[in-house]
Amino acid sequence: MAVSESMIQDVVKEVLAKMQIQEPAAGMHGVFPTMEEAIAAAKESQKIVRNLTLDQREQIISKIRQRTHENAELIARMGVDETGMGNVGDKILKHHLVADKVPGTEDITTEAVSGDRGLTLVEMGPFGVIGAITPTTNPSETVLCNTMGMLAGGNTVVFNPHPAAIKTSIFAIDMVNRCSIEAGGPDNIACTVENPTLESSNIMMKSPDIQLLVATGGPGVVTAVLSSGKRAIGAGAGNPPALVDETANVRKAAQDIVNGCTFDNNLPCIAEKEIVCVDSVCDELMDDMINEQNCYLASKEVQDRLIRTVMDEKGRLNRKCVGRSAKVLLSMVGVEVPDSIRCIVFEGPKEHPLIATELMMPILGVVRVKDFDEAVETAVWLEHGNRHSAHIHSLNVEHITRYARAMDTAILVKNGPSYAALGFGGESICTFTIASRTGEGLTSAKTFTKKRRCVMQDYLCIR
Ligand code: NAD
Repeated sequence: MAVSESMIQDVVKEVLAKMQIQEPAAGMHGVFPTMEEAIAAAKESQKIVRNLTLDQREQIISKIRQRTHENAELIARMGVDETGMGNVGDKILKHHLVADKVPGTEDITTEAVSGDRGLTLVEMGPFGVIGAITPTTNPSETVLCNTMGMLAGGNTVVFNPHPAAIKTSIFAIDMVNRCSIEAGGPDNIACTVENPTLESSNIMMKSPDIQLLVATGGPGVVTAVLSSGKRAIGAGAGNPPALVDETANVRKAAQDIVNGCTFDNNLPCIAEKEIVCVDSVCDELMDDMINEQNCYLASKEVQDRLIRTVMDEKGRLNRKCVGRSAKVLLSMVGVEVPDSIRCIVFEGPKEHPLIATELMMPILGVVRVKDFDEAVETAVWLEHGNRHSAHIHSLNVEHITRYARAMDTAILVKNGPSYAALGFGGESICTFTIASRTGEGLTSAKTFTKKRRCVMQDYLCIR
């Protein structure tokens, strides 16, 4: 029987309706009334996981890959329905990407040193139970990629998801536990609390049973985990500039930048948030974005209305605007455009609030600069020292090298859309936890392991 769009929507409605009943966790695997219970369950489960063979862990991960493919549309719709952010088509792609490209146990390798005095192995072991905090912007994607990597490393995980994305996060947590059981593993490889709060997060951060914290979100949460006194991985905010110099293939740059910026309505932290363009090609770039890439050129008046709508007077974002399409954002300021409009563009100084702020909306301010030197200086300023992501369109390798050194970011995409860094049209693994602030970069199974040295004196060197 062919599955129609309306049938899928009915299933989503049914799942959401079930999850809105008095007891949201009823029947959901891994979901507990209190954080203490969630941690206790993950601790018990980790005792089993640490004794699973690599092959058994891999079987669970394979099942998660399969189920993520099968449920990609369902979870994508659920995420958009619950958070109001992003778009279903791109969220489906993100889930397929997670299923295909998040590494499993193959990511964990052993180092060996042998010589006259024997053999030393450095093996990667689990931390134990990991406490993970996840964002609204990629809720299920982050739960899935974190669980796969953490399990591959022999850990279990307790999540404190963003309350505004709790249903979607719970759905993903329930799903990975069901996959584990089906593949012969334990329940509760991933756990959470029914109603995550700052208090439940604090309990998690202080618990002696949590050995490692992983925070994916804005600056507040990263600072919180880094102040916890525990080992912590901080995947924080970005404001990635896309630099276009005079040697760039401008037509392709316009296409790549708009494609990257509009992916999931600009929610990914790596997505192009503003452009810095040298004067000699800036008119051509604007023209290509407006006429070839269906961007809307915002007048000064529309920019001012957007500023008043998307943020308050203190520069705090209006959550109702984050991850909305260009058409929706424009309609909020009284401008009606056809569905084909993908992005809002305008020229402005680097200090312009819509340029300097990490908006997570398909709004691309363009800063025109006289030459490459000024472009680099401007891009460094706009990235605000996050050292997260930066992108460049240039055919001059000296320029690319200079930019890469100056930006010093975890991710730098050259001559492509930003999402190439997530393995989407690029050679790379996928993750939705990019540890910019603490330096691990794109996290994967090996990030969630600790080094253990195993020494055999005088024997087993057969050279
Ligand atoms: P957010 O910072 O509002 O929330 C992220 C998570 O942290 C949520 O679970 C929230 O409840 C929790 N949180 C926030 N402040 C906290 C505190 N003081 N103590 C404990 N928990 C706290 O972010 P968001 O709006 O959900 O996501 C968007 C932000 O996250 C953007 O800045 C984006 O760049 C960033 N992000 C980064 C990555 C990355 O991999 N580096 C990935 C996704 C999102």
